[in-house]
Amino acid sequence: MTEKYVYSFKEGNKDMRSLLGGKGANLAEMTNMDIPVPTGFTITTEACNKFYQEDEKLWDGLFEEIKSHIEETEKELNKKFSDEENPLLFSVRSGAVISMPGMMDTILNLGLNDKSVIGLAKSTNNERFAYDSYRRFIQMFSDVAREIPKVLFENELDKIKEEKNVTDDTDLDSEDLKKIVEKFKKIYKEEMGEDFPQDPIDQLRYAIEAVFRSWNNPRAKIYRQLNGIDDKLGTAVNIQSMVFGNMGNTSGTGVAFSRNPATGENKLFGEFLMNAQGEDVVAGIRTPQPISQLQDVMPEVYKQFHSITKRLEEHYRDMQDLEFTIENSKLYLLQTRNGKRTAISALNVAVDQVNEGLISKEEAILRIEPNSLNQLLHPTFDQKELENAEVITKGLAASPGAASGHVYFSAEDCKTAASKGIKSIIVRQETSPEDIEGMIKAEGILTARGGMTSHAAVVARGMGACCVAGASEIRVDEENKVIRGKNIEIKEGDLISLDGSTGYVYKGEISKVSPELTGNFAQFMQWVDEIKRLGVKTNADTPKDAHQAKEFGAEGIGLTRTEHMFFNEERIPIVRQMILSNTTERRQKALDKLRPFQEEDFYNIYKEMGDLSVTIRLLDPPLHEFLPKEKHDIEELAKEMDLTYDEVNDIILELHEVNPMLGHRGCRLAVTYPEIYRMQARAIISAALKVKEETSHEIVPQIMIPLVGEKRELKYVKDQIIEEINQVFEETNQKLEYQIGTMIEIPRACLMADEIAEEADFFSFGTNDLTQMSFGFSRDDAGKFLSEYKENKIYSRSPFERLDQEGVGQLIKIAIERGKSSNPDLHVGICGEHGGDPESVEFCHRIGLDYVSCSPYRVPIARLAAAQAAAREKLK
Ligand code: PEP
Ligand code: MG
Repeated sequence: MTEKYVYSFKEGNKDMRSLLGGKGANLAEMTNMDIPVPTGFTITTEACNKFYQEDEKLWDGLFEEIKSHIEETEKELNKKFSDEENPLLFSVRSGAVISMPGMMDTILNLGLNDKSVIGLAKSTNNERFAYDSYRRFIQMFSDVAREIPKVLFENELDKIKEEKNVTDDTDLDSEDLKKIVEKFKKIYKEEMGEDFPQDPIDQLRYAIEAVFRSWNNPRAKIYRQLNGIDDKLGTAVNIQSMVFGNMGNTSGTGVAFSRNPATGENKLFGEFLMNAQGEDVVAGIRTPQPISQLQDVMPEVYKQFHSITKRLEEHYRDMQDLEFTIENSKLYLLQTRNGKRTAISALNVAVDQVNEGLISKEEAILRIEPNSLNQLLHPTFDQKELENAEVITKGLAASPGAASGHVYFSAEDCKTAASKGIKSIIVRQETSPEDIEGMIKAEGILTARGGMTSHAAVVARGMGACCVAGASEIRVDEENKVIRGKNIEIKEGDLISLDGSTGYVYKGEISKVSPELTGNFAQFMQWVDEIKRLGVKTNADTPKDAHQAKEFGAEGIGLTRTEHMFFNEERIPIVRQMILSNTTERRQKALDKLRPFQEEDFYNIYKEMGDLSVTIRLLDPPLHEFLPKEKHDIEELAKEMDLTYDEVNDIILELHEVNPMLGHRGCRLAVTYPEIYRMQARAIISAALKVKEETSHEIVPQIMIPLVGEKRELKYVKDQIIEEINQVFEETNQKLEYQIGTMIEIPRACLMADEIAEEADFFSFGTNDLTQMSFGFSRDDAGKFLSEYKENKIYSRSPFERLDQEGVGQLIKIAIERGKSSNPDLHVGICGEHGGDPESVEFCHRIGLDYVSCSPYRVPIARLAAAQAAAREKLK
């Protein structure tokens, strides 16, 4: 059986995309819907793959098929290909399965030569048009199929226009165009060392080869790599009989969307040019008219076009992006496809289409890419200004948003700037907990080191602050207060702008546009909540974050990191006193001073959250993070503590750990110093009792113990906490229900989950640490080498950004299964950064977690991802 590599439009349909490419499948679909489409045929993507198997050569059998389709077209149109009387001409276009910039675009008027141009002039009675078409063909063919620089032809055209003292191509007459044709042929001969091909089949051969070769040009390859498109898909070639928009004033061409791709407004959007061919609209040589004006120019054509767009939209059940040509007042459609759109447009179109009864709520939910909501939640830069802005560097898009401010290199300087009303961007090599106040005061955060779960990234996402992290091309010289990069030097006080959604850093200030969260957004998110099953909570450390998260629909707090509360100006000296205390009594004294602050923190959070659940995690980081590093700060602390510099420095050295992330942190601190967790537990319970008394809220505090790896470890710490809580109950003569659970963030804890669950009311998977410890990759440093893992296709994404479902995911599944086997009521969730990554959220839904918890600005994204997981299940 001979294989079939060519399909006429009549033989295809929209579901044959992988064989006919997107454009070919849709041209076939429109043809079969009786929409006016110029007759033609498609060479399949399989032919493209065979072309590469055959050492980039076209084979005879393919040409037999092509010729028979040309004959079929000739019969249907009653014209002959490249005829000397009434020639049939073709356009040749690429058409990949997934639309892909960078590939060969279009050759129009193929089949013209020195003889058929005369035929075209005769049959149309329009010599000027014929020679204009011929010169366009030579120009396009030379550029696209033979890679002769375009500028050679453009210069020639400009020269003649200059000689004639005219500015528009349309001012050239047929004699001028004949001269241009001769000149163009000469350029071709000079460049290629042969005459411009006169045989139309040769022309076609070159054009098809060029399309196939463009599949593998560097731009297309890079695009595929960036977008994860399979190299084996190949491209189709569409060969379609020409219709002419440049035949005079009753002809024209245009592009349009069935709705507005920027806003979603249900109104035709696009532009057209009379007496022009397709490339004139794109090239910007003449200014096109808005599509609405077609109503005045050609009311009947406009009406027909409008009704076709509606029909296509209903048929494809989505907004369409169309190309059309009008030839002597007759309309032809050259392309339709689902239109690319901004996030706001996508949302408005989806909501409108549900309300119009065109699609279901589930389909609407699946239409919106969860991460695209970022564009709606944060202010964004004014698109126009952005286009002209000067890029300084690009780092990781660590926390979305748009921020402009003056560069400062320390938290202190940002605080001072804020007190003077100056907007700042804090720029650090990398941030540490010490920088927290500066980070709060700054408009945005820029670091040269660190990955997506580095301190800067996690804290920024928590606060909803804009952050670009790991901009490794620049060096931040904190001492000399300067950013250095290739040809770049930015000094303290200079203005810069950060785009946390793309990772770009720009010079100067760029205006911002604010988000709107009412109307269609609110309606859409209501459907999201109707459909999703997975709970979505937030990671929030302050009432302000908690409030923001509630606005975004969080169902509770899944993680409050208490350490961030220790860094404010009033508290840090007390925290340091606690750490430097060499007796339990002294430590207790310091803790007694800290407790009212903590109680107030928790009180405010409980008040903010009302009936919603709040999980508070007890102290987690190693203590040395709270101590100063700079000499003068150590001296100051020594003075405050009535100690010598050496005494303080000795303690700091003693606390130093080679590997602090695997060191004395989490519940290990409480095994050594139980009084720290006892203080926090007392503060939590006291705050809860107070809010319960003052309000009618039924508060059930959830106390979470970090970094547990063993049941006895958990029990030891938990027993101390319970003892303290019972004391509070006794002292106050009050009681309330509470829960004690644990983070699961050590691989051993996953394996021992059945035992650990006997002591835990809930598990919350800390997938930041769990990933770090499963891979043995430092979450703060892995960014330095993970790019090579990506390049070499070892890991396609950083496991700190997208949960490693096979490895880390397996540990989580084991932990859920074992945990529930011994404690069927065990509540399970996740609070690592993955809780806000759509693909990871979908995984959490599938493996039966009760909830995910993520930073406030990711809450709507996680809600949508959870709804998509449920919708996919339903539509399966
Ligand atoms: C985690 O490890 O995933 C987690 C949530 O805790 P942290 O990031 O504070 O270590
Ligand atoms: Mg952790």
